[in-house]
Amino acid sequence: MINPLRSGEGVSVWWVKEAPAPFRLAYSGRWGGASEPPFHQLNLGFKGGDEPARVLENRKRVAEALKMPLERWTLLRQVHSDAVVMVGEDVVGAGSRDYASGVDDADAMVTAVRGAALCVLAADCLPLAVMGGDPPVAALAHAGRRGLLAGLPGKVVRFLAENFPVDPADLIAWLGPCIGRCCYEVSEDIAEDFKRRFDPEGIEAGDPHSVVSLKGGRARLDLRLAARRDLSSAGVPPERILGSSECTCCEPRFFSHRREGITGRQAAFIWIE
Ligand SMILES: [Zn+2]
Repeated sequence: MINPLRSGEGVSVWWVKEAPAPFRLAYSGRWGGASEPPFHQLNLGFKGGDEPARVLENRKRVAEALKMPLERWTLLRQVHSDAVVMVGEDVVGAGSRDYASGVDDADAMVTAVRGAALCVLAADCLPLAVMGGDPPVAALAHAGRRGLLAGLPGKVVRFLAENFPVDPADLIAWLGPCIGRCCYEVSEDIAEDFKRRFDPEGIEAGDPHSVVSLKGGRARLDLRLAARRDLSSAGVPPERILGSSECTCCEPRFFSHRREGITGRQAAFIWIE
């Protein structure tokens, strides 16, 4: 990670240096944008109530910081689904200047087009990238509670294996900043659904290896651990899953829906150079 900015120090964008060539992987935070509270400062999402002109200005600043022109960004209309869509040259740029023109109602996309940046937005949900292959192919997903329960990470891997000459064992995955197990309190029903879906037999809720931790009698979820289990089940070796450990709710340099309610959106980006 480079460029660890705070308020007033510029546009907050970080590169994931562990991403192997020819992949470029980056994510944004909340500082250095033009938006006013509660979307201050670098809100990249048009949905939610911010002024579109400010969001566009923020996107242009990030495009400049990444040296990736806005017309080469591609976004989905994110709906917490488990759908995966292919991004060809014909749709590159969709969703870059407004919400409605997003590629599709979906939460994961895949491309083999060089110089085309996939972009997902989040404010506590997990941004997840998968990359590899020769010729190279990149995927990016927005996985919240519903997407994870629906098995979105594994579906992305299977989509890649079905459509490209790639072996899941050779892929690399990256799990971005999201709400951590420190902060993501959920109802008992949801905790039980996650435990049943992701924990190997014999691991009890509260065990350090469970996706569900218990604190003061309340259940908390580990979205990244759930994603790791799903990716591993789909054939990605655990040592090839790169992980951020940043909690969007704990760290003020990120937008957090849980912490703030109405707020902005940060983004994750991947492209093939
Ligand atoms: Zn936290």
